[in-house]
Amino acid sequence: EDVKSLNFIEHIIEEDLREGFDKKALRFRFPPEPNGYLHIGHASSICLNFGLGLDYEAPVNLRFDDTNPEKEEKEFVEAIKRDVEWLGFEWENECYASDYFQQLYDWAVALIKQNKAYVDSQDSAAIAQQKGTPTKAGTDSPYRNRSVEENLDLFERMKNGEFKAGEHVLRAKIDMAHQNMLMRDPIMYRILHKAHHRTGNDWCIYPMYDWTHGESDYIEQVSHSFCTLEFAMHRELYDWFLDQVYTEGKVRPKQREFARRNLSHTVVSKRKLLRLVEEGVVESWDDPRMPTISGLRRRGYTPESIRNFADTVGIAKRENLVDVSLLEFCAREHLNKIAPRVMAVLDPLKIVITNYPEGQEEWLDAENNPEEEELTYRKVPFSRELYIEREDFKEEANRKFFRLKPGKEVRLKNAYIIQADKVIKDEAGNILEVHCTYDPLSRSGSGTPESMRKVKGTLHWVSVAHAETATIRLYDRLFSVAEPEENKEKDFMEFINPDSLQTATAYLEPSLKEAQPGDRFQFQRLGYFCVDKSSSENELIFNKTVGLRDSWAK
Ligand code: ATP
Ligand code: MG
Ligand code: MG
Repeated sequence: EDVKSLNFIEHIIEEDLREGFDKKALRFRFPPEPNGYLHIGHASSICLNFGLGLDYEAPVNLRFDDTNPEKEEKEFVEAIKRDVEWLGFEWENECYASDYFQQLYDWAVALIKQNKAYVDSQDSAAIAQQKGTPTKAGTDSPYRNRSVEENLDLFERMKNGEFKAGEHVLRAKIDMAHQNMLMRDPIMYRILHKAHHRTGNDWCIYPMYDWTHGESDYIEQVSHSFCTLEFAMHRELYDWFLDQVYTEGKVRPKQREFARRNLSHTVVSKRKLLRLVEEGVVESWDDPRMPTISGLRRRGYTPESIRNFADTVGIAKRENLVDVSLLEFCAREHLNKIAPRVMAVLDPLKIVITNYPEGQEEWLDAENNPEEEELTYRKVPFSRELYIEREDFKEEANRKFFRLKPGKEVRLKNAYIIQADKVIKDEAGNILEVHCTYDPLSRSGSGTPESMRKVKGTLHWVSVAHAETATIRLYDRLFSVAEPEENKEKDFMEFINPDSLQTATAYLEPSLKEAQPGDRFQFQRLGYFCVDKSSSENELIFNKTVGLRDSWAK
């Protein structure tokens, strides 16, 4: 039946099922921290977890890992939900780690009672100093042997807001000589007098990641908790914390790690992307140059192309850099199937068809998309004065230039064969317009022998009198080097490409007047373009998604 090869994560699940794990108990989660917008790296994790959910018909929770009110905001929660939905996935439950604050607190109290947690009243520098090194054991805190009663009292008063930030922390009492440094009495709670976007001022102590994550998985009965490699060392602690609360008969979550996906010519870290926004390098989180899901959406990427990218890149055990040209390839491949073809001229040169009557116009049939199963057509106006692309005309050109040159013929797409006769210039020698003649019998699709004449070269064009104008935003790589984070001496911000955005005015066939924000098109011979969200009837704005072929990897 299914011959698709399994990745190592799927092998882990298959093995668990073989060993008797109940398929109906499979449950996954995607756990973003709402401290920024999702980026293309998250897409890998989303596609992995939700993909498993679809493959195994298992529920997948969207869980906000919201334990740090200093960095988290409702705006980010909303953006994350929008992006996961847009990618085409449905979560079972919308969960928040903050919903478990009371349960986590109660469990922490239970740990104190079992003498497995204590309040440390040293500052963070002292605690760090006592941590030791991988080869040297740490030192016990002088507060490590506080009585249970004192710990219970202090912890409750921490919760009640009697202390300032940093005065006390709650630590798990594990082993200060443990070979895994993360097991050396990790901090479970810290004091933070900061309102939380969901719990407001209910809490002034907040649980740390390690204490929160596994317990949240347990509360939700997540069977397999997949995270990125930097958490591999945390697994032991994840398991230790689970041991403290696990009861027989329940699903015991299993953490496994996979490699982060990095993309060339950009950064995929919310913290760094935030800097790009805050320092004004880009306009916003959804600036079309950003590797965020919302930026890619605004740039014109489809959910299918991003999912296809994530599938193609796959899940790996080792980190590597994926070239952004693969992402662009995926966009191009899908847009080629779905984007209607239209004509637009970005750098206009006027041509005058001298044998076409003044004041006359005709509306010609133009095919919308040759990839459609049943072809559909629209009308485009043809008249005496047209724009073509300036680079499509050369006064002097070699034999390989199959575009317009004096005395030679080209076909105008969906229209007629024309020939260039005369170049009109200003005093400085700049070309103002080119006078041409057309063959009235050569109209495309008319079936005449003239229309079937083979001419090398077909140009796109737009009728001057009917053209809509639009602002076009053309994008280049945001960073001028493949790995802006590689150089340890320099800040990644030093590798910003100063020319990542250019704007142009384009002339469009009139059918585009109706184009709505989010609509995607192929501008024939130029690339794929998408109507920007700020576009309006008064000012049409298009973002270039990607060119028709890879112009970068040369
Ligand atoms: P960032 O540094 O961008 O904030 P993060 O890992 O801290 O990344 P989270 O919001 O915690 O961001 O991520 C949610 C999930 O997405 C986690 O399971 C995380 O491991 C995964 N993830 C984040 N970045 C990547 C990436 N580049 N490739 C694959 N998975 C990722
Ligand atoms: Mg995280
Ligand atoms: Mg982070």
